[in-house]
Amino acid sequence: MISEQLFNILVYIWIGLAIVIFPVLLKIIVPYGRHTSNSWGPKINNRVGWIMMELPVVIVFSWLLFTGDALKSLPVYIFYGLFMLHYINRIFIFPFKMKSKANQMPWIIILLAICFNLLNGFFNGYWFGYLSPEYSISWLYDPRFIIGMLLFILGMYINITSDNKLINLRKGGKKGYFIPYGGLFNSISSPNLLGEIIEWLGWALMCWCLPSLSFAIWTMANLIPRAVDHHRWYHHRFPDYPKNRKAIIPKVL
Ligand code: NDP
Repeated sequence: MISEQLFNILVYIWIGLAIVIFPVLLKIIVPYGRHTSNSWGPKINNRVGWIMMELPVVIVFSWLLFTGDALKSLPVYIFYGLFMLHYINRIFIFPFKMKSKANQMPWIIILLAICFNLLNGFFNGYWFGYLSPEYSISWLYDPRFIIGMLLFILGMYINITSDNKLINLRKGGKKGYFIPYGGLFNSISSPNLLGEIIEWLGWALMCWCLPSLSFAIWTMANLIPRAVDHHRWYHHRFPDYPKNRKAIIPKVL
């Protein structure tokens, strides 16, 4: 059993690592999807890759949550349910909808993502399974819970509808890449990544604990650099790419 004090120190180190990795990710292009490269070693089918990368967080989080002896009330089951809703889409729906041109991704990306997901699953699962104080039912009426949940739902909606829009650009057997238009795509290049950030910020707010905050920080550290890479790639690939479009935050970045 890990003491709460040691656990919190470990989460602070984990958050510190995300802050250190953020500028590193701004300098390198992570090679999957449109950025796939042959210089990152052996590769694997990307559908299998997505499932392998994301499944560990579900297993570890669920195992620790349900085997731990902390008292669990309805709010915790709602946090867990929303978390699982996201990952059911990411593991069992999203990979089978993709019509990817480069349908391979490097093993090294999968291994790094598995490490991330094991640790993220550990921190959140151990917290809710073993250490978290019991949430009272009145937490369901707390503005942090309500606003957090609304943000989560909004973020998930933006994430899934934007992923669908991108995937549908290849409808009818079309191949290659196209400029997406409509909705948030008129303001930013990666609404799907913005949606995912909003989702986990909302989840952090409704859970109101250090491990959920660490997940939101890691999501930003991963996805802001990826959105910047996508944005540069669009400009490089399409000379007529809309000039007023930003990478991930309308009018700002
Ligand atoms: P992308 O936006 O690069 O791609 C999503 C899908 O749409 C892919 O199948 C891609 O094909 C296709 N696509 C994208 N742009 C175009 C275009 N212009 N024309 C035609 N097809 C296109 O998403 P990411 O790979 O960056 O992320 C995928 C999902 O995973 C997102 O929902 C993201 O939020 C999530 N994610 C979460 C992370 C986290 O840390 N929580 C980390 C990374 C991703 P192709 O594969 O051929 O490029």
